[in-house]
Amino acid sequence: MEQPVDVVVVGAGVAGLVAASEVARAGQDVLVLEARDRVGGRLLNAPLPDGSPIDVGGQWVGPTQDRALALIDELGLETFPTHMAGRHISEVSGNRSEYTGRIPRLDPVTLADIGQTQWRLDRMAASIPTVEPWRATRAERLDAQTFDSWLRRTARTPRGRSFFRLITEAVFSSGPEDMSALWAGFYIGAAGGLDALIDTAGGAQQDRIVGGAQSIALALAAELGDRVALNSPVTAIDWHHDTALVRAGGRLIHARHVVVALPPPLASRIRYSPGLPADRDQLVQRMPMGRVIKVNVVYDEPFWRADGFSGQANSDTRPLGTVFDNTPHGAAGPGASSGTGGPGILVGFLEGRHADVASGLSPEDRRSRILDDLAGYFGPRARSPIEVIEKDWAAEEYSRGCYGAFATPGTLTRFGPHLRRPVGPLHWAGTETATRWAGYIDGAIESGERVAREIATSG
Ligand SMILES: Cc1cc2nc3c(=O)[nH]c(=O)nc-3n(C[C@H](O)[C@H](O)[C@H](O)COP(=O)(O)OP(=O)(O)OC[C@H]3O[C@@H](n4cnc5c(N)ncnc54)[C@H](O)[C@@H]3O)c2cc1C
Repeated sequence: MEQPVDVVVVGAGVAGLVAASEVARAGQDVLVLEARDRVGGRLLNAPLPDGSPIDVGGQWVGPTQDRALALIDELGLETFPTHMAGRHISEVSGNRSEYTGRIPRLDPVTLADIGQTQWRLDRMAASIPTVEPWRATRAERLDAQTFDSWLRRTARTPRGRSFFRLITEAVFSSGPEDMSALWAGFYIGAAGGLDALIDTAGGAQQDRIVGGAQSIALALAAELGDRVALNSPVTAIDWHHDTALVRAGGRLIHARHVVVALPPPLASRIRYSPGLPADRDQLVQRMPMGRVIKVNVVYDEPFWRADGFSGQANSDTRPLGTVFDNTPHGAAGPGASSGTGGPGILVGFLEGRHADVASGLSPEDRRSRILDDLAGYFGPRARSPIEVIEKDWAAEEYSRGCYGAFATPGTLTRFGPHLRRPVGPLHWAGTETATRWAGYIDGAIESGERVAREIATSG
């Protein structure tokens, strides 16, 4: 048995680290127990061939993500804009269009259908209170159907439906048939509308963080110093109404409060004694993770820029459905100002069902399919990278998927109130519990701040 602490935080992702920083700032003893040998959770830098970092986890921030932007600033970090000059590529039902601006070139009937569907979707999302989505006027009706059912009834054309499937996979890393329409509407509303989620300029993909997004977690952890313990997976929590005993490996720590800052499926893998209230357990049984393999493909130069492409491409038929230029800040060599000179990076995402298939392939076959898709978008030079850096987030023992968890039909209306409701000394954080930008870095920060307030007010 170790020295008791006021607060144990389980998980050194952004949510847990923000919670710990706030608790420490309020003058309480805190200890963060992190399962991995590193901090950051779903934020991770990997080395490029020259040793500089590239994001293999979450990476973008954008306008209205006020908490993320403020924290980046406070930690002395900087952002830079995602490269987007040049023509984007969009393939809908096999029809390729190259375009600048926001709207792909599509036939007028499909465009009108996409427009009316998005209008209805934004209106539905805006009608859902993000603090208590289960109280939306049409909550029961929306939660009784999948997002796919909602889209099939709303989008009128095959291409319109195909477009929204692609968008759903890109935003949620799951298919629309997996999740409740109420969850989809909540998530879109929590970001302030669909454009905010899918846009680069003015949206969630607008900016990147110099040095990689894991720098946020590394900087927070540096401030906390030895109050962060790595290689300490929490396996059991014994709790009573105002105290808890946390077991991590051989360590046993007494605390007055425990913040569980994990995605819901992982929170449910800890053994609680006594067991959690049935409603809380039912909730987390119904919130699986999405699935993504993120692939950074490194070239000796950003050749697509010289060919007039922005590097942004999406397709509803290719497994690598979403691609961006991910060239690091200032890394595009001597020709950087003209957009040429090396190295250059394309980042692509195998999302949802595409990740299911790709994870079953041999590394060689997966790489060759990834390069086939990039060559399909940008031409044969895409077949000759220097390196391919893959990260399969579902295979990670302490993430088990990403970008985040989602709620299946019936979950929010039956058990939603238990998402944030404390149980005795146990408090629930993590981006999935946020009311703005749930699923994002910004939402993780909100959740960390909220639990710190809960602890401060509960004494
Ligand atoms: C590929 C990818 C792309 C993304 N893109 C973006 C993006 O561009 N912009 C954006 O804002 N967001 C993005 N996200 C989402 C973003 O990364 C997450 O919302 C955010 O990092 C979640 O933080 P968190 O602290 O809530 O959870 P996590 O980061 O998952 O933190 C949980 C921590 O708990 C630890 N843990 C797990 N089990 C235990 C245990 N039993 N004991 C102790 N510790 C444990 C984990 O190791 C982890 O460190 C992306 C995520 C991924 C994976």
